Amino acid sequence: QFFTNMSHELRTPLTLIMGPLEHLIKQADQLPSQLREEVKLLNYSARSLMRRVDQIMDFRKDEMGQLKLKAAKGNIVAFVREVFLSFKNLAESKHVSFEFQTGPKTCDLYFDRDKMEIILYNILSNAFKFTSTRTGKVTVSLEEKGDTVDISIQDNGIGIGKEHQDRIFDRFYQVENSFSQAGKGSGVGLSLTRRLVDLHKGEILLESAVDQGSKFTLRFKKGKDHLSADMIIRNFKNSEDVSNYTRNNFPHGKPEFDAGKSKSSQDLPLLLVVEDNPEVRKFIIRCFNDEYRIVEAENGITGRDKAFEHTPDIIISDIMMPEMDGIEMCSNLKKDIRTSHIPIVLLTARTSLVFKKTGLGTGADEYLTKPFTPELLKLRVKNLVRNRQRIHQYITRHEKIKPEEIELTSRDEIFLQRLMELVETNLDNSEFNVTILGREIGMSRSLLFKKVKSLTGMTTTELLRSVRIKRAAQFFRQGDYSVSETMYKVGFNDMKYFRECFKKQFNMVPSDYIAAHRTERSD
Ligand code: ADP
Repeated sequence: QFFTNMSHELRTPLTLIMGPLEHLIKQADQLPSQLREEVKLLNYSARSLMRRVDQIMDFRKDEMGQLKLKAAKGNIVAFVREVFLSFKNLAESKHVSFEFQTGPKTCDLYFDRDKMEIILYNILSNAFKFTSTRTGKVTVSLEEKGDTVDISIQDNGIGIGKEHQDRIFDRFYQVENSFSQAGKGSGVGLSLTRRLVDLHKGEILLESAVDQGSKFTLRFKKGKDHLSADMIIRNFKNSEDVSNYTRNNFPHGKPEFDAGKSKSSQDLPLLLVVEDNPEVRKFIIRCFNDEYRIVEAENGITGRDKAFEHTPDIIISDIMMPEMDGIEMCSNLKKDIRTSHIPIVLLTARTSLVFKKTGLGTGADEYLTKPFTPELLKLRVKNLVRNRQRIHQYITRHEKIKPEEIELTSRDEIFLQRLMELVETNLDNSEFNVTILGREIGMSRSLLFKKVKSLTGMTTTELLRSVRIKRAAQFFRQGDYSVSETMYKVGFNDMKYFRECFKKQFNMVPSDYIAAHRTERSD
């Protein structure tokens, strides 16, 4: 009782910590890099603590008979596949080979989305935790057997000795080994998992041998005869149900999508919508039709190709798609310098977001759970755009761009670093222009333009000019050179033009700027 009360009391301050932390993480681009790393670590630790507390709270509910099943019919194949996908990046970073095998393409099962996600998450996390990097192999498989469905998670990790096999489902039981000694884990996961499987009237089977690996099989009954009426939610809206995305869901009865209109205004930002379901795609397009030009793709491969072809300003993509899933597309785009700067929103059908909870990176900038409302989707996109603007402000405000102080993908960081180096070393070269810059950096003029615009909010020419003028101001403040000497040092050779540009950026002509800073220095 003491223990469960304690976790209740822990949760409140934790929730209070998480709020500001969430805020800090969003502002991370403003923080010095070392502090940013610490905030990230703090955030990660707070999240895992929260997860533990939640697990214990679930026990409390269980003890008090409050842990209730809320099942609804759904395609379990799609559900398992999506949880599988959320672990793909972890598998990649641990160099563990990871596979999903399924007999049926679709299979209806009555299950509780939240609880099933915890079940799969716990068993999959263990499989990765107790399996070695590089030689490891984890396989998720799904099979229909008469009136049951088997979901198996098999690893070739350290395995579990016979003497422990019954006990690992007990609360707080951990096998002493080199992995558990690292101080990780609590021995809570599996006992909760078993309770949640029990609630479904399913069973967990375990086959395991030391040094050979483990196979956990979750067996569920099909149909709903084994569940009582109060365990089934009526009127459940399936996240893939297209009726979620009908026009009735628009509060103000938005007009029909008009393809001609959306393509007319060339100044609008470009949005790429990647979604295999035409209804959902149309729905998203309708949300943004007024404010964006739109390109569509129906799977990850065409999505990726269209992203390369058009360099959109933002991408909204489903996760579950044929040919190539959204996570793979996302990591492809984030790895490629041509597209690494583009913000991506991923749509997921799962209830609670494993990605966000665990910090399993997919490279995406935002996630949204299906079914979503137009308001929420727009809000997410707006937040991303605002975040971009913060980066732009940072770049305009600061004399020297330090890419490591802005939250960017590492590729973009390297790109900006190289770009700034090239500009700095050619500062006094008045011949140095956008064409030469593009050639040096190995990018076409138009791609360079799009990248620079997206990362800095400026055109390449504006960026070049702005760096030159900022450096001139720095020379003026140091007071070592005359105006014309400075002008040549920063690559201008026309005094009238130099003065004009300087005035535009600093709202005063060079001589006034020098005078202002001279008094500042003598003050
Ligand atoms: P935790 O992982 O937090 O310690 P769990 O209840 O999830 O708690 O697991 C209990 C114990 O069962 C673990 O400490 C570990 O010794 C063992 N175990 C679970 N899954 C595996 C696995 N896939 N391979 C080897 N051992 C496992």
